Amino acid sequence: MIIILNSIVEVLKKIEGAGFKAYIVGGFVRDFYLNKENPDVDICTSAKPSDLRNIFGDNISLDQYGSLILTENEQKYEITTFRRESKYLDNRHPTKVKFVKSLKTDLKRRDFTMNAICLTSDLNYIDIFKGREDINNHLIRMIGKPEKRLKEDVLRILRAVRFATTLDFELEENLKIAIKQNGHLINNLSYFYKKKELEKIFLSPNIKKGISLILDLGLASPLELENLEKIVLTSSLIGIWTQLDVADIYPFQASEIYIMKAIKKLEEKDLFDVHILYNNQLVVLKLAAEIRQIDPKVIEEKYNKLPIHNKNDIEVNYKEIENMLNDKSSDKINDIIRDIEHLILSGKIENKKDILTNYILKRYN
Ligand code: ATP
Ligand code: MG
Repeated sequence: MIIILNSIVEVLKKIEGAGFKAYIVGGFVRDFYLNKENPDVDICTSAKPSDLRNIFGDNISLDQYGSLILTENEQKYEITTFRRESKYLDNRHPTKVKFVKSLKTDLKRRDFTMNAICLTSDLNYIDIFKGREDINNHLIRMIGKPEKRLKEDVLRILRAVRFATTLDFELEENLKIAIKQNGHLINNLSYFYKKKELEKIFLSPNIKKGISLILDLGLASPLELENLEKIVLTSSLIGIWTQLDVADIYPFQASEIYIMKAIKKLEEKDLFDVHILYNNQLVVLKLAAEIRQIDPKVIEEKYNKLPIHNKNDIEVNYKEIENMLNDKSSDKINDIIRDIEHLILSGKIENKKDILTNYILKRYN
């Protein structure tokens, strides 16, 4: 924490040395005041992007969202020029962003009082909206009129719920009312952003509070999370997404979709059945177990005790079977493998080369 703080101060001083104002702002300051680490550093400054290029040269780049990213000594800083945002489009995007000279103007466009506290290069706080007082009272308070600010950008609704969950804070009364009245506007938010915020909520140790908030604030329906009320908490995110059953609308990677489908297929199946255990990956089995509130350790033990875990574990291989047979058709060989696979799994024959060889010669030749 101290090391990172020293490096941030150095960055601020470089900007100040060139004649501009610069402060740490946002999540880093909020979490610093709460004595929590936050690797994500936001800096706001009166320097324009071209000034910052003059100061930092090639260490500055533009990220995919149009913010300036400075990389110094492997630490990344997101730097934004003091700005005013106006005329929001589709409840999310400002149509105009104007660079301004005043810090206060910049801080006014931010979401919550706790996110608009600045730290100067000599580590003094600038706290125009009494963010520290709200932090002391565990309150999430919107800057300005909640209704107006939420309508400008509905992502703020989910950010409020996310922070209430991760920090275990309460929503200030007027903010809560405004969310209840405007929750339907979440429709306008992209699934990418909805998922990003939801994952932060689902990954929090305080997830139960997050889920209650989403339900109580009437956000489950605009988020299209019809199953939220009845989900079982699982050890990993993918178990939660499987139960929410939204793979057709929210964005997922192919590997995630594969696992979710495999878990869903096991919904009505007997997880203790040797063939079910054999035909599924252990991660999938354990998640399916968790969802059904079966101890995944019991499933893992059963899985580990299987006599074979795949075809390669069978003591006779394809080539050896082929050599034993007069009729060497591949269909026949595959039938035989399926047959002995089944017998081994159900404990009717031992997985030993001589025993299997005898069986095949007697039964199939
Ligand atoms: P963390 O980085 O811990 O997730 P953060 O509050 O720093 O939380 P960022 O997305 O890094 O979140 O944003 C940095 C700052 O920018 C915020 O603290 C807030 O002041 C402002 N901000 C971010 N998103 C919004 C928004 N949708 N509306 C208004 N201000 C925002
Ligand atoms: Mg941040």
